[in-house]
Amino acid sequence: MTITTAGPDIVDAGVPGPEWAAEVRRLADLRGATLLAHNYQLPAIQDVADHVGDSLALSRIAASAPEDTIVFCGVHFMAETAKILAPEKTVLIPDARAGCSLADSITADELREWKADFPDAVVVSYVNTTAEVKALTDICCTSSNAVEVVESIDPDRTVLFLPDQFLGAHVKRVTGRTNMHIWAGECHVHAGINGDELTAQATAHPDADLFVHPECGCATSALYLAGEGAVPADKVKILSTGGMLDAARTTGAREVLVATEIGMLHQLRRAAPEIDFQPVNAKASCRYMKMITPEALLRSLRDGTDEVHLDRAVADAARASVEAMIAIGTPGGGGE
Ligand code: SF4
Repeated sequence: MTITTAGPDIVDAGVPGPEWAAEVRRLADLRGATLLAHNYQLPAIQDVADHVGDSLALSRIAASAPEDTIVFCGVHFMAETAKILAPEKTVLIPDARAGCSLADSITADELREWKADFPDAVVVSYVNTTAEVKALTDICCTSSNAVEVVESIDPDRTVLFLPDQFLGAHVKRVTGRTNMHIWAGECHVHAGINGDELTAQATAHPDADLFVHPECGCATSALYLAGEGAVPADKVKILSTGGMLDAARTTGAREVLVATEIGMLHQLRRAAPEIDFQPVNAKASCRYMKMITPEALLRSLRDGTDEVHLDRAVADAARASVEAMIAIGTPGGGGE
């Protein structure tokens, strides 16, 4: 279905204004679509969306929303997860090229080979994975429930943990598990939030709280470093997205350093405008997330692109691994 829109000049030099927002809302209504935006999307896209949140929370909203069409402003694996949980719905992502370096760090073929080396192992995958990888997974996890998921597994069973090496190292340290193998994957953004950055920022801002978002691939190195004592423990708050927003409203700190992708600052500053929120690394911006431009969102609503399609068997197997996680207990905030 193609819908007529206002002309392309509605997004003036890449800065969307009220006309753009009104056109987006008009097209969303015409299409009968729910607009979901990840926390790391551009501020204008967060502001125009029906719901803003982390990937799993948004996927669950996708499944329960009354609308038949979901427009997922995030990266591709997130739109896939929405499709996995809402297989009967039309799921659109404004630009299907919006990938994820962490999800791309292991392919289904690589996982098959790894599993062949450990045929009796239990495979635990962070939600930042493709649907094909999830389909080969026994239990998915988010950063906030990864420890709980691994602890639920028979201590005598070998665990294969993927794809994030920092989250894996954190889980291994907390659980003390020795029969756990960790895939050496990483997110390109988190490399910018390293120990030197954290230590320098914490030293320069001794009264500031440090919010570390554990459900973000780009923050798992920060999570690891906080656990290693690289920054003062009493200042470090390991928080999910929702927890971070709650803490923003209740913390006594006047200054907060935020170790995650910089898109999160928009929601935090809206929640607590009196607090000075500063990024640990202002360059920690995910180029894939920012591929969802205002123009791409308009195009998606107008043309019904890009639609996410999943093989039925892959989707069913992937759903089983997500449901196995939910059955264990706290689904947490969801993944990144
Ligand atoms: S910030 Fe990293 S983990 Fe998150 S979507 Fe971008 S590349 Fe993937």
